[in-house]
Parts: sequence; C-alpha cells; structure tokens
Amino acid sequence: MTDFAQMTTTRFAPSPSGLLHLGHAFSALFAQAQAKALGGRFLLRIEDIDITRCRPEFEDGIFEDLAWLGLEWDPKLVFRQSDCLARYDQFLHLLEESDLIYPCFCTRKEIQEEVANAPRAPHGPDGVLYPGICKQLSPEERQEKIEAGRPHALRIHMDRAAKLTGPLSFHDQELGRIAVLPQSCGDIVLARKDIRTSYHLSVTIDDALSQVNLITRGEDLLHATHVHRVLQALFGFPEPRYFHHPLLTDENGKRFAKRDKALTLKALREAGTDPSALRARLGFS
Ligand code: GLU
Repeated sequence: MTDFAQMTTTRFAPSPSGLLHLGHAFSALFAQAQAKALGGRFLLRIEDIDITRCRPEFEDGIFEDLAWLGLEWDPKLVFRQSDCLARYDQFLHLLEESDLIYPCFCTRKEIQEEVANAPRAPHGPDGVLYPGICKQLSPEERQEKIEAGRPHALRIHMDRAAKLTGPLSFHDQELGRIAVLPQSCGDIVLARKDIRTSYHLSVTIDDALSQVNLITRGEDLLHATHVHRVLQALFGFPEPRYFHHPLLTDENGKRFAKRDKALTLKALREAGTDPSALRARLGFS
C-alpha cells in the first residue's frame, strides 16, 4: 500500500461560484507541477460552502476546464465540502469542549457601529478585527439568545487558542520560515451563520485528512495560513509545507477575477485555444 504521508501531496481547491479564469489555470497547473516535480500526487477538491453563490453548472465547468487544460486527478478522491458538514461539526465540538469558540450574534451593522466609536480599532486583512462584543456575554445571556432562535456564528477565542498552542510558525518555499501572528485575524469566524463551517475550518480539516502536505495557493491567502496553523496545532494535525505563489496579472498588472468574462477558460476553450500553447504561455510546458 502506498504511504501517502511520505509522498508529496498537493491540491487545487476551486469554488464553483463562477467560471475559472487564467488565474485559476495558473494555480491549478502550479499545484500539479509541484506534485510532479516531487514525484507526488495532486488532488482536486470542490469548495462549495458558499451556498448562495455556488452552482452545479460552475462545478461541471471546473471539471471540463481542468481536463481540457490537461490536468489529471483521481476522480475517486474528489469531494465537495458541502458533503462534509458532519465532519466539520466534530471538530467544532472539540473546540467547544475546550472552550475555544463562542457564539457571536452580531450583525455586520452592529460591528460597524461598535467600531465607529473606536477609531483606532485594530485592522486585519479583511478590514477591522472583531471587537469582541459577544465575548463579554454571560453563559445565561448566550443561552437566552440561542433559545430565542437568534442566528449566530461561532468565533475562535484567539487569545486562549494562542496561549494553548504557544508560538507557531510555517515554512513557505519562497519566503522561508514565518512566525505565526495569531491575532492578525483576531477572533475570526469558524462557523458562519448560514452554514456551520467556514473557509478556514474546512480547508484546515480537509487538507489534513487528505494528507495534503504541500499547500500551494495564491499569495493573497498568506494571511489565512496564520489562522490555519493555529487550527492545525489545536487539532494535533501535522504541519504542512507552503508555497504561496504570486498572482497572475493581465498586461495592466490587474489580477484576474471571476467577474472578468473574457479570459475565462470556457471562453478560451470555445475560441479554439490550444491548451498546450496556453500551458506554455503560463510557464508550464
Ligand atoms: N477555494 C479557495 C479559492 O478558490 C481555495 C483557497 C485555498 O487554496 O486554500 O480561493
């Protein structure tokens, strides 16, 4: 039997919330090239927890586009995050038992109002950090709100978590060893109001359980790695290696986005683009 723990495993994990574009093509080819160069394997995972934005036709498009691009993956190992909610819940329970998460009933507006009174509130990659309003609630107040059916997210108690894990770091192929700054994202949401998980929770669990040990993704997600390392340490998962790659930009230096229709892989495919020429253009001949 193959010992996957010894073998390099990379993955590409797109969200079916739009058509794939050249930036995705680069990222997918990058992950596969890393696996190939190290004699490893490459996995594909569908990150579809954003239930309001994900659509089956975009998921079909992912498979079509990537096959056209020449990527190879084991279809038996492909899974959707929306099928794994019970698994994510088990890990949320672990955090709950250790008193490392708390329910947050705040609306976006309430958070904004609170922060408007604190102009020097610390900021993170997605704007102002959660000011901790619901952290102050007593167990009775929490219970009351939950019983009243108030929608709530679950946030990590980052100060407690960081105390428990002690100092952490990660290794990025280009940047070297980086010290984890647990507070850089604050008490980030681990389970959203609309679905009992989040990008951070799902990705950390899926990568570990799929034995992904070389995580390649765009450098725009470098900040997320700080959160993921904390979660890995709390769950006792091994530390993967990272390769945050530069983002592909157009001739004007602008990042590709799902809303730009012109350079979707579907459009290129339908215009008769030669996939091997495209691979070469992206630096993967
Ligand atoms: N679903 C994420 C995206 O499309 C993947 C992020 C990751 O690779 O961790 O950006």
